[in-house]
Amino acid sequence: MKTYDYIVIGGGSGGVATARRAAEYGARVLLVEAARLGGTCVNVGCVPKKVMWYASNIAQAMRDAPGYGFAAATVSLDWATLKTRRDAYIARLNGIYADMLGKAGVEIVHGFARFADTHCIEVDGQRFSAPHIVIATGGRPVVPDIEGAELGIDSDGFFALDHQPRRVAVVGAGYIAVELAGVFNGLGSEVDMLVRGAQLLRPFDALLRDELAAQMQQDGVRIHFGAQVKRVAREADGSLRIERTDGPPLQVDALVWATGRRANTDRLNLAAAGLAADAKGVIATDAFQNTTTPGVYAIGDITGHAELTPVAIAAGRKLAARLFLDLPDSRLDYDCIPTVVFSHPPIGTVGLTEDEARDRFAAVKVYTTRFTAMAHALTEHRPKTAMKLVCAGDDERIVGLHVIGDGADEMLQGFAVAVRMGARKADFDRTLAIHPTSAEEFVTLR
Ligand SMILES: Cc1cc2nc3c(=O)[nH]c(=O)nc-3n(C[C@H](O)[C@H](O)[C@H](O)COP(=O)(O)OP(=O)(O)OC[C@H]3O[C@@H](n4cnc5c(N)ncnc54)[C@H](O)[C@@H]3O)c2cc1C
Repeated sequence: MKTYDYIVIGGGSGGVATARRAAEYGARVLLVEAARLGGTCVNVGCVPKKVMWYASNIAQAMRDAPGYGFAAATVSLDWATLKTRRDAYIARLNGIYADMLGKAGVEIVHGFARFADTHCIEVDGQRFSAPHIVIATGGRPVVPDIEGAELGIDSDGFFALDHQPRRVAVVGAGYIAVELAGVFNGLGSEVDMLVRGAQLLRPFDALLRDELAAQMQQDGVRIHFGAQVKRVAREADGSLRIERTDGPPLQVDALVWATGRRANTDRLNLAAAGLAADAKGVIATDAFQNTTTPGVYAIGDITGHAELTPVAIAAGRKLAARLFLDLPDSRLDYDCIPTVVFSHPPIGTVGLTEDEARDRFAAVKVYTTRFTAMAHALTEHRPKTAMKLVCAGDDERIVGLHVIGDGADEMLQGFAVAVRMGARKADFDRTLAIHPTSAEEFVTLR
């Protein structure tokens, strides 16, 4: 049996980050990956999603161009070419990850890991042991248990599509649902969204939820609130018939389930390590990523906190520093995590929603604005930008900052630093505007 200082199960965002740092700190590290290096984010998440978002933005720019005097161009996309180029980019990233790990001295084993006991794992009949083992196995999409559900695809299937469906139904209301619906719509598919509740992006501030739904509807997405799928069937012409609770059946060429994810912990033989997961596969951890078994840790999506790549990376790096740099207090602070949704238009949000702030603080003051960004002064398509600052206490500390509109994705990071540092409204007021931008509205709110 081969022994190491640190075994990392899963080569996604969290696993790669913690393995690399631990090796840089001098630990002998083994990383086990069952599929492709880079995990969800690189292969079937953030990266290919953002490529598709850019493609959709380019299509919109071509539709906007006549407003600036350009001759109207036919927006015609060769989806297969886009996919081939996107896949090649991702293959390059897979290679870069392997090189990075190799250079750091991390040993990589390709295969599916299971626990043999508390400090030992098994991969394809081979055993490896270490005093420290971290589980970073991420999650996978789940589809509802409905007749014909298998005729639809999930977000992994979206990235496997080699042609553009003309008519699409997207089921779900979370960020993946709105992002995929926005991409399809921007690229010219007809899109119906089936949303069980009455809102998109339920945990987000009301301003963002309402503005996004309104803009998507204005851009042609048919959003069916209070809608559930009853049954899916394949028609003779190859299309799908979706029977739903709220109206007549929909006829589409593709159905995308964006109805949630579960953690990849069910086939790890957790019991051998004295561990158990909850119904969604989540492994409980304390503030230091410790599980209930000493020497076994969990990071990333399987811990059920803020399922985002930078969160998995930061948790993994902090853990490596705690274990191998002898920094006993090293841990990730899960407060105030900035988030961007790559919807059309994009959303940026950090801190508390207005409702959360009102529940938590006696004195809450809110500043909002809504306008058409200058880029759209000349175009027929005139999406709105909306912003909200949520301030608490007499000194108006900014506890929440929310924006929807072009540029929100790149706008948020700097403001997130300010919010994290405890900025007051007066600090924003003292900061000179950068003109002409949309972001300047955040420092001129009254
Ligand atoms: C469509 C989509 C879009 C997203 N967009 C964004 C975004 O824009 N921004 C953002 O921050 N986040 C985004 N995310 C979330 C982000 O991808 C995840 O939060 C992040 O990848 C979690 O990292 P992780 O290390 O926990 O797991 P993962 O990255 O999922 O990696 C887990 C790895 O473990 C491997 N594995 C599983 N079981 C085993 C086993 N038993 N043995 C060996 N290997 C195993 C898997 O093959 C996988 O490679 C998106 C996710 C999706 C699905």
